Amino acid sequence: KLSNRLKQAVEFIPKGAVIADIGSDHAYLPCYAYEMGYIKGAVAGEITDGPFQSALNQVKNLELNEKISVRKGNGLEVISKGEVDCVVIAGMGGALITNILEEGKHKLEGVTRLVLQPNIGARNVRKWLINNDWELKGEHILEEDGHIYEVLMAERGNPMAPYGDALEKGLLLGPFLREEKNETFVKKWIHEESHLERIIKQLEKSTLTQENLKRKGEMEQDLKSIREVL
Ligand code: SAM
Repeated sequence: KLSNRLKQAVEFIPKGAVIADIGSDHAYLPCYAYEMGYIKGAVAGEITDGPFQSALNQVKNLELNEKISVRKGNGLEVISKGEVDCVVIAGMGGALITNILEEGKHKLEGVTRLVLQPNIGARNVRKWLINNDWELKGEHILEEDGHIYEVLMAERGNPMAPYGDALEKGLLLGPFLREEKNETFVKKWIHEESHLERIIKQLEKSTLTQENLKRKGEMEQDLKSIREVL
């Protein structure tokens, strides 16, 4: 059974696409998406030997070798230009996801959709999308096993379109999530609010270097955005 987190990612894949799932681990996502009839085929990329072997085994056990190509390599280097329509990167930090996208930019030429699930640091991912002319088109937020996850979907277009005149708030909170404001979203940001309050208090007790002052200012700005939405 696939986690709800990955199911929500699958929901954002265009029907009939060929996908690349980068950092696929057990290749659960592409196997599920293929078996459910969502995709025509997939490349499952892995950089680490253990997860790469798990992906190979999973695909072999389900007899999907002809549909799902498991490849070992760093990020987008495992795909060739024009090979896939959609790239999925799930279950990593936002900084790692943006590194993979940035390093492999030239491979994204024929790609029409990105499905990204940062465990933390979704703001980095939204910023990267803006800087690279990808328009955020949809967002999910969900809670599973005590964690709250965000899933982002983007296509080429007008990268500023979803933000209106609230760029900073949108980058932090997610323009669609902020609009929808469901229970999980509220829970996440109530939690983040007290987390930030604690860090700011601690910073106030330490020597206020330039660096600390800057961090404090940024966190206070975030706190303001959070309080406005709650
Ligand atoms: N995508 C799966 C999911 O969401 O459940 C697996 C997530 S797992 C926590 C992250 C995986 O990404 C690990 O198996 C790791 O080896 C792989 N990974 C990390 N950096 C990578 C890179 N630059 N290229 C390919 N795979 C990478």
